[in-house]
Amino acid sequence: CGIVGYIGTENVKDILLKGLDKLEYRGYDSAGLAIVDEHEEDVQLVKEKGRIASLRKEVEKINPEGTCGIGHTRWATHGAPSARNAHPHQSANRRFTLVHNGVIENYESLKEEYLSDVDLLSDTDTEVITQIIERFVSEGLEVNEAFRKTLSLLKGSYALALLDEEADDRIYVGKNKSPLLVGKGDEANVVASDSMAMLHITKTFVELMDEEVVTVTRQGIWIQDLDGNDVQREAFTAELDE
Ligand code: GLU
Repeated sequence: CGIVGYIGTENVKDILLKGLDKLEYRGYDSAGLAIVDEHEEDVQLVKEKGRIASLRKEVEKINPEGTCGIGHTRWATHGAPSARNAHPHQSANRRFTLVHNGVIENYESLKEEYLSDVDLLSDTDTEVITQIIERFVSEGLEVNEAFRKTLSLLKGSYALALLDEEADDRIYVGKNKSPLLVGKGDEANVVASDSMAMLHITKTFVELMDEEVVTVTRQGIWIQDLDGNDVQREAFTAELDE
């Protein structure tokens, strides 16, 4: 299982599919991606049970064109492998789109406490994260704040990447006990579980620590802890070939 994300100037579809191919070795039972489509002006979601080849076929049919997107390979822990349970998962109003690797141990109590009036669309532990972010934003929090507050409620492991349809110039990411790197390219920045997945874009990466979030834009990356304090971290160069 793994995560990829890209925000830059190039068409993102092939970048994500290639990244997902590179994550195949980690194992998966389904895969999906979400692309901010420049023409449709919304987030295009494609997810499939099975091989990345079948995802690729579906993506080619829709042919989304955009320069920002996230992708996921799933190893099911909560909810059977199926297109419905495959990631990305969207909030009820479809504003937020999320991919997640890991396990949220307290998702049932979170659902009870924050989402008792919401009909969930999947059987995953992941979906509660997206829905709670939407809830906090509808209550008036800024997205960055809602993201950090939601993450501080989670018990378990996560590597996350989140798209906000109303701010298509950024990807929010966060991690705890699951691997996640941010990569710095030329007018493009990336997110990946493993640098291997994005070596075709950059070899310069920044490691994230547990309970950190990053706002990734085309211009740069902004790391914070869950309390909102800024974090500075040097980049390193991956000594690997594609
Ligand atoms: N726990 C999540 C699910 O079952 C994520 C699994 C993964 O890491 O791929 O959907």
